[in-house]
Amino acid sequence: MKEAQYDDLELQDIMRNIKNHKKYLVQNDILIRRAFPPVSYVTKSGYRSSILKIYHDTSANGAHFGRGRTIDKINKRYFWPSMNKDIENYVQSCIPYAQFDPRRQKAPGALKPIKPPDEVWQLLTMDFHGPFSPTSKRGNKYIISLADVLS
Ligand SMILES: [Zn+2]
Repeated sequence: MKEAQYDDLELQDIMRNIKNHKKYLVQNDILIRRAFPPVSYVTKSGYRSSILKIYHDTSANGAHFGRGRTIDKINKRYFWPSMNKDIENYVQSCIPYAQFDPRRQKAPGALKPIKPPDEVWQLLTMDFHGPFSPTSKRGNKYIISLADVLS
C-alpha cells in the first residue's frame, strides 16, 4: 500500500500540503482520510479495481451487491476521489449483476445458477493474499475487514 501511494500525483500534492488538507492525515507515511473509522487513500495505480471487484462481486451466495450496498462497504474502508462515481459505473457495467437484479429479471427461469463459494476464496487468494500481503499490522486489518465482505 505504501509503495503504491508514491506514484500518484494527486496524492503527492496532498502529502506536500498536508496542513491545507484538513480531511487527511499522514500516519507511518501513509495517507489516511479522516472518517469514522479513518480510511486509507487508494491511488490510481493502486487497488481500486480489485476493491471494486471484491466488494461488489464477492458475497457468500455469489450474488452481486447493488450500488448502495457496495458504496457503503467501500466507503467504510477506503477513499479516493471519484470513488462513488467509479462504484456506480462498475455496478452498472456488471453483466452478472444485471442478470441477478430481480427488477430487470424477465422470467424466473432465466436465473443463472449460483456460483459455488470456492470462487470466493479463489478471488480472495488472488486479490488479497497476493498483492495485499504485507506482514504489518495494517495487512492484518485488511484480512479482517474481508471477513464481512462474505456476510
Ligand atoms: Zn457484479
